Amino acid sequence: MALLEAAYQEFRSEVREFCEREIVPHAEKWDREEAISEDIIQKLAKKGYLGLTVPGEYGGQGKDSLYYAILNEELGRACSSVRSLVTVHGSLVSETMARWGTREQKSTLLPRLAKGELIAAYGLSEPEVGSDAKSVETSYQEHDDYYELNGQKKWITFATRADIIVIVAKNGEHVSTFLVHRTDPGVKIEKIHGMLGTSASGLGLITLENCRIPKDRLFGMKGMGFIQITNTALDNGRFSVATGALGIALASLEHSISYANERKTFGVPIGDHQLIKKKIADMTVAVKAARLLCYHAAEVRDRKDPSTYVHTTLAKYHASKAATMAATEAVQIHGAVGCLNTHPVQRLFRDARIMEIIEGTSEIQQLLLSNYALKNLTDIID
Ligand SMILES: Cc1cc2nc3c(=O)[nH]c(=O)nc-3n(C[C@H](O)[C@H](O)[C@H](O)COP(=O)(O)OP(=O)(O)OC[C@H]3O[C@@H](n4cnc5c(N)ncnc54)[C@H](O)[C@@H]3O)c2cc1C
Repeated sequence: MALLEAAYQEFRSEVREFCEREIVPHAEKWDREEAISEDIIQKLAKKGYLGLTVPGEYGGQGKDSLYYAILNEELGRACSSVRSLVTVHGSLVSETMARWGTREQKSTLLPRLAKGELIAAYGLSEPEVGSDAKSVETSYQEHDDYYELNGQKKWITFATRADIIVIVAKNGEHVSTFLVHRTDPGVKIEKIHGMLGTSASGLGLITLENCRIPKDRLFGMKGMGFIQITNTALDNGRFSVATGALGIALASLEHSISYANERKTFGVPIGDHQLIKKKIADMTVAVKAARLLCYHAAEVRDRKDPSTYVHTTLAKYHASKAATMAATEAVQIHGAVGCLNTHPVQRLFRDARIMEIIEGTSEIQQLLLSNYALKNLTDIID
């Protein structure tokens, strides 16, 4: 029996066909050149994929979380760098704006984001601050008619392309978030080269030096930059990353099955060797479990259940581990061929490692999960 109803299956076919035609043929080149094309951004926008979950009244497609899971899974299966754009632009910024933006931001900015006329990124991490996000050092000062920001944001996905970057900054103990434009005075963006994986996702180092922005660029309530904006953004982003990781795991398994049926050693296809069969079995279980956790998280998210974040965390933790395991085994099954820098499994292997670092490392997910389980185990496993 199919896991999904017909409408979702149709959507998967549509996205897969789009990916096979518009993304897969270019993914290796984009990876090598460390940039996706402008053309693919416009094509994603035209399909409505940059605003899939944004409500219709703000120019989006108003689709539920399961549609979004399928989109991210298929993009992850094709090219993790393209999926990264949807994560930061769609999940971290647009979805968060739909929830917490002012009426003005929602009516003027959100439709342009949903249509891809503006591209957005999320600036939380800094040279000295990653997992311990509450310790951000970027500062803001409030003046009569402007805010002034100073500091640096590092590893910011698509900072090199974004028109708007959400910046998380501190004033004493208060954390607030702001919408900074790349054209604002005092903003400098430098590209970061040589990343292990998702190499085409335009990472940047952002320097803010006496950057003055108007008061209406405050994003969320003053002093609520963490509780309101960042917690929501990370939860949204984690769901996108979980489902994108599922896509990497699935692609690794599919490549492995094809190769195991085709490559012969000792007179038989390598898939006939028990040690290869074990790898395929383990990968299959990991992929299926990741899919179930991701789709369950989608359902819980749409119910707006208070335990949403823990189900999303479960999905992200398992799916990113599954991606690492499956991509590692895929390289092993392909032998020397899998080590070639033009082979897809080699890219999947590098991209998979990133999934255990972004939107909270695996260790941070373990802390969140164990803290929750120690108090409310039944909420997780029932
Ligand atoms: C490809 C890529 C894209 C990214 N995109 C963005 C983006 O768009 N926006 C953004 O703001 N950031 C982005 N980041 C940064 C990312 O969010 C951080 O790398 C991540 O939060 C981890 O922080 P860190 O790298 O500073 O590691 P650290 O926090 O320094 O951690 C180092 C190691 O210590 C472990 N560790 C830390 N604390 C604990 C603890 N309490 N217990 C056990 N172990 C611990 C970590 O798990 C990790 O293994 C990106 C990173 C990458 C690689």
